[in-house]
Amino acid sequence: MQASQPTVSGLPRPWSWPAALPLVALAGGALWAGAPLPDPADCAARLEAAVEAISTHPRVKDVPRAKLKATTEFTTGNMLFVLLHETAHGLISDLGLPVLGREEDAADAFATVTMLEMKTEFTHRTLVNAVKSWMISDRRSREYGENVIYYDAHGLDLQRAYNIICLMVGSDPDQFEDLANETNLPQDRRETCAGDYSNASWSWDKALQPHLRTPEQERTKYQILYGKPEGSLDIFERAFRATGIMERVAGRLADLYAWRKPFSIEARTCGDPGATWDVTEHKVILCYELADDFVQQYKLHGEEPLAKLSPPSGSRSGAPMGFR
Ligand SMILES: [Zn+2]
Repeated sequence: MQASQPTVSGLPRPWSWPAALPLVALAGGALWAGAPLPDPADCAARLEAAVEAISTHPRVKDVPRAKLKATTEFTTGNMLFVLLHETAHGLISDLGLPVLGREEDAADAFATVTMLEMKTEFTHRTLVNAVKSWMISDRRSREYGENVIYYDAHGLDLQRAYNIICLMVGSDPDQFEDLANETNLPQDRRETCAGDYSNASWSWDKALQPHLRTPEQERTKYQILYGKPEGSLDIFERAFRATGIMERVAGRLADLYAWRKPFSIEARTCGDPGATWDVTEHKVILCYELADDFVQQYKLHGEEPLAKLSPPSGSRSGAPMGFR
């Protein structure tokens, strides 16, 4: 949190409409404040390094380079979103942050707002890939005839997609107008998304502010671990190592926050696609199988434009007003 931003906490909480827009401008840029922003050229170079590192792997040796690059960007970008999501669970648990509302939504909001604050074309593309992944996941579930689990701790796939879209559009309606159009986000919702973004960005800043590390405080220790990948999953260990996403995220987390306990980030073979914050081990666990699942998603519908994957906007005009 920069010292020049106390204006935000001095004002009423930005949930009320007229206050929301100016506060969006004031609240931006704090989650990663103090840490250098990622350099787009460096992001591109790391993606290229990952493509190079896996290009000789038997699984992909016949895949055209452009397709391999697109698949790698989709997969590693989604793993970065997942890593930030799990990081949010880690921060909530380690720092004892209050959680108002569903923690899973808060974790998605953290990942989205953090990437939006980086303000690079690369992070914007990564968020669009996260949206796309949820849309593909929804379509795949319907194609497989899976039941919708309404009681799940997480939102439904399409809701998770639209929460990301809404925060993006809310953060900058002009910049993300095309995204809103492609995904059929209705005009009235685009307007309320500014409030969603303002609340998410402001609340995460507010919650983390007391835990920002001062220069006198020792940097929190952390470990990066690569478990043995089974079979052809070794391709993901190669890709993760080449991008350095685990090392980079951990480094920033240690720079920025005064954690109560040392933490770890581990990639491992789990037996299923997944990722979690393990409270007992104080560790983010990223399963190689989850990266593999993103590859499968990309194979299914990854090359389709977002507009084709997006559901129609529909209408709730006939619905009763309900409470607001
Ligand atoms: Zn979660």
